[in-house]
Amino acid sequence: MGELGLLGLSVPEAYGGQGGDYFCNIVLAEEIARGGSGGLLMGLSVHTDMVIPPILKFGTEEQKRTWVTSGATGRQMFCLAMTEPDAGSDLAGTSTRAVRDGDGWVINGSKTFITNGHRAAMVMLLTRTDPDAGHEGFTVFLVPMDAPGVIRERRLRKMGMHASDTALLAFQDVRVPGSAVLGEAGKGFYQIMWELQAERLIGAAGCLAYAEYAFDRALGYARERAAFGRPIGSFQAIRHKFAAMATRIEAARQLIYATAWSYAGGDYPVREISMAKLLAAQTAWEVADQCVQIYGGAGYMREHPVERVLRDIRLYRIGAGTDEIMLDVIGRSFGI
Ligand SMILES: Cc1cc2nc3c(=O)[nH]c(=O)nc-3n(C[C@H](O)[C@H](O)[C@H](O)COP(=O)(O)OP(=O)(O)OC[C@H]3O[C@@H](n4cnc5c(N)ncnc54)[C@H](O)[C@@H]3O)c2cc1C
Repeated sequence: MGELGLLGLSVPEAYGGQGGDYFCNIVLAEEIARGGSGGLLMGLSVHTDMVIPPILKFGTEEQKRTWVTSGATGRQMFCLAMTEPDAGSDLAGTSTRAVRDGDGWVINGSKTFITNGHRAAMVMLLTRTDPDAGHEGFTVFLVPMDAPGVIRERRLRKMGMHASDTALLAFQDVRVPGSAVLGEAGKGFYQIMWELQAERLIGAAGCLAYAEYAFDRALGYARERAAFGRPIGSFQAIRHKFAAMATRIEAARQLIYATAWSYAGGDYPVREISMAKLLAAQTAWEVADQCVQIYGGAGYMREHPVERVLRDIRLYRIGAGTDEIMLDVIGRSFGI
């Protein structure tokens, strides 16, 4: 994909990309989803939509030349480590600590559920640099995964998304130079909050397209599978399921595209992004569940695609901010 230019579709040409706009990323996520692998979709979007954009927005020229160029051309893959064993939704509870040491920093801590953690060449790492400075006390580092003290602990086993690797990482006295700070020290919390918007929007687009992939498979099955002497799709109960699913998919898609249009134009529509992520994740889950139902017993079997979609897609109601956190962000945006 790197050789084909697909990992840097919206990256400027000066950094090895194709110079496209944000909708190129949306199209890529949708098309990868239609390939039928949620894990591949997730692993790629961490790289293209979660790690590369913050380097382009906040990074130094040297960081862009080093990391963005190698990432956009596929020479190296990246991961993003925010979540810790004791801090997920509440990222302000981050305890991975980075302490100044001469011109550099020493990092200690642990991160969990890290997508691409076992194959990445670099981790974008959220740390706490000043416990007394509130939201100004966080710093993001770009840490080479071969730095001494970076330990790829367990490869975590999970319900779905098996095509992506998920790591428990440890950082033991990891020494990095000052040039490893993303942009400026003390700005990490804001950088990650900015990053999360793109993570949620691309997740919404990808999971909805993945649900549509299940819809298409189930539609084909409903045309072919016969019961009581007729195709099951001709039963009104089944036909109405497709009608309801298609209506919800279309509504979610319109919200995603309208929000992506605003985001691509330079707006920062946190409320709408949270709404799009919430609606897409819930719609995708309900669609995948209905598709399993339409397949009947075959839907529960590994050899049919919808069983995999159901397992993979469940993640979207948790990762990148849970349903409950999305509702909270939306609610708070009304000042309550
Ligand atoms: C397969 C997979 C891949 C992942 N990849 C990455 C990755 O690459 N990088 C990374 O940093 N993280 C990654 N994550 C972590 C993911 O983002 C977190 O799991 C998610 O943000 C939730 O955090 P948590 O698991 O600690 O749950 P918790 O924060 O412990 O939440 C547990 C429950 O409490 C609820 N809850 C928490 N706070 C509130 C509140 N204020 N109001 C109401 N309800 C609340 C939650 O909604 C949830 O239902 C991944 C997770 C998985 C499963």
